[in-house]
Amino acid sequence: MILESIQNKTLRQIAEKVMGNTPINESDARYMLTTSDILDLGTIAHHIRSELHGDIAFYGVNMNLNYTNICELRCPLCAYSCDKDDPQAFLLSHEEIEKRVTDAVSTGIDEVHIVGGIRPDLKLDYFEEMLRIIKRIKPDMFIVAFTAVEYDYFARVNNISVEEVFDRLIDAGVGALPGGGAEIFAPHIRTIIAPDKIPGKRWLEIMRIAHNKGLKTNATMLYNHNERVEDIVDHLAKLRELQDETGGFKTFVPLPFHDANTQIKARRAQTTGFEDIRIYATGRIFLHNMPHLKALWMYLGEKMAQILLRFGVDDIGATYYNEKVVHAAGAKTPDYGSEAYLKRLISDAGFKPQRTTASYNRLGTGEKS
Ligand code: SF4
Repeated sequence: MILESIQNKTLRQIAEKVMGNTPINESDARYMLTTSDILDLGTIAHHIRSELHGDIAFYGVNMNLNYTNICELRCPLCAYSCDKDDPQAFLLSHEEIEKRVTDAVSTGIDEVHIVGGIRPDLKLDYFEEMLRIIKRIKPDMFIVAFTAVEYDYFARVNNISVEEVFDRLIDAGVGALPGGGAEIFAPHIRTIIAPDKIPGKRWLEIMRIAHNKGLKTNATMLYNHNERVEDIVDHLAKLRELQDETGGFKTFVPLPFHDANTQIKARRAQTTGFEDIRIYATGRIFLHNMPHLKALWMYLGEKMAQILLRFGVDDIGATYYNEKVVHAAGAKTPDYGSEAYLKRLISDAGFKPQRTTASYNRLGTGEKS
């Protein structure tokens, strides 16, 4: 049925592989990342998404907790971090964290999403106590916390193994990893946009350890900076390879780079709609072993995130009460989307909204708007 509707010959061959459960190859991915036949591409991506999730589209009701913006790595791609003596610098005390989470819980959140800067003076007990405070406020809160970059740093600064870091933070309440810090694995690009961040190889190693500890994680990919098509294909291939080994990735999350207040000049100020569609649809088709594809409305704009629901996406992101990171880089979207609005975006695109967390358990809607 879908084969008959695909006019483009190469995309029809790719669709034949998909229908025959044959993984597509890197040359197919390169083609998909450059084609302008987005309707045929979308037909394939939508078929896969429908097989996996029917007419359900997920969203979350959560808060962002960015515990500090002081970071010693100062990646050129980052608009959020600053030095200790910067007037904008902050570090949240445990009391402030308790207050913010208590406030957000009163609005009905299910999940806290935690990331922050890299700083040597914060030892593991600061993070353990942070997580325990959140669990005391709401014992069933789902906590998605810390990037692979942070876990690697926690191990080094506390002089313990990454395995021990995971054991202690799981014990304190971590339920999943958000998947940030992946950027683009290709070393020649990574040294431009984030030279002091752990290499892509180490990011994948940390994820392997997390998966072996039973944690599910997201996997991000930053695009629209200096990367080439081959670098995107390389990134996708490395994710697919690790997923074949561990099965621990729940979600692929491509992130369009915003360059305001960063030291990187993006190739173009904005992505085009076709670029976004190609990236997401290709991700859905190439990563056949990844269950979910997430389009963060905050990065893409609500309208593009909604459209991507027809190009392979099954998760539109969450309310993100108090998001700071992408807004520091110039994102024009509001920093809080109401549950009612996210549900409307989903319903209006012809899907059934399903509230969830990063675990993808199906929750009832405790409507608050
Ligand atoms: S991207 Fe992360 S690691 Fe890099 S400077 Fe910003 S907060 Fe620090």
